[in-house]
Amino acid sequence: MLRKGILFFVFLALIAGAISCSVWRQLGKMPNDKELSDFVSSEHFNQDKQIFENRRPELIEAMSKRIDMGTMVDFFLNDTPHRVPEEPLPEMKPVDIKRFLEPTDSVRFVWLGHSSILMNVQNRILLFDPIFSNAAAPINFMVERFQPPVIRLEELPEIDWILISHDHYDHLDMETVEFFKDKGARFAVPLGVGAHLRYWGIPEDRIFEMDWWQKKSVDGIDFHCTPSQHFSGRTGQDMKTLWASWSVEAEGVKIFFSGDSGYDIHYRQIGERLGPFDLVFMDSGQYNLKWREVHNLPEEAVKGAKELRADYLVPIHWGMFELALHEWYEPVVRSYQSANTEGVNLLTPMIGQVVELEQPNAFARWWEDLIE
Ligand SMILES: [Zn+2]
Ligand SMILES: [Zn+2]
Repeated sequence: MLRKGILFFVFLALIAGAISCSVWRQLGKMPNDKELSDFVSSEHFNQDKQIFENRRPELIEAMSKRIDMGTMVDFFLNDTPHRVPEEPLPEMKPVDIKRFLEPTDSVRFVWLGHSSILMNVQNRILLFDPIFSNAAAPINFMVERFQPPVIRLEELPEIDWILISHDHYDHLDMETVEFFKDKGARFAVPLGVGAHLRYWGIPEDRIFEMDWWQKKSVDGIDFHCTPSQHFSGRTGQDMKTLWASWSVEAEGVKIFFSGDSGYDIHYRQIGERLGPFDLVFMDSGQYNLKWREVHNLPEEAVKGAKELRADYLVPIHWGMFELALHEWYEPVVRSYQSANTEGVNLLTPMIGQVVELEQPNAFARWWEDLIE
């Protein structure tokens, strides 16, 4: 009996160990001293503090002071209604991968929910901020997704490039990164994020780490790492890795992906230097006036899209995780109103729907049926 009891406790200890090991690994790896010293040339790296900074460095501290205990209580305890959908959101399942992969002279994309985008641009297959695990947190039952991924990792077509905007859990997912360990996909990431990828087993020669305004041309694609106004870290506001947006150009087709960002002058600058864009994906959800510096309000995303000189705007960073206090549908409702007022072409596909930029699908306002 005693022996059985001991075995049981050993078993429990092993399980606890395995869980904590996984949690530990999820935290990733910060750049080491050697890597940090390589950031000397970055204008956004503060040598004294050894951290990356926004154009206006004081913003994040001011914001942190505003987010007090009351905000936390609201977030964790106050059950404001409809922050999570009552039922799973409608989706196009299975994703029509055959159609997605058909040769294109333009761009085709699938919104996978939140900021995860699968894209076929001029027949190169890209994934932006892919998250396939159950939660946007190191612990599986925290920040759970509204519904399972519309497509499984194993069902994805061969991916050429994975672009990451920053190291927050809802954008950089260990499980997804590890899936690509033995595949050919290369990673384009902001400075410092490579340390996480190396720790999770991605070989050095498949990691392209870039600073804001840096450009790399590979396989006929121009990748521009561009600014965003945000912060980083997997254990708090570490700021040891850079956050970014991305501009991608392939044979004349231009795409912009905002990553997570508050509104600032960078949209106009990027629009002037690299625009006009055929298609822009803008952070339009999980906002709050208290943390307005790090997430656009939907109206600011629309304004930003105009400054980027965008033909089409897709609101992202909504529809999968509850990371703010607003109703789950508020981002798309406000984006829709604002885009109408401002004369911006908005694309609001369902999760899993293949969107052709050459013949933009007519989208039903599918969320309206779900608002009570
Ligand atoms: Zn973030
Ligand atoms: Zn985010």
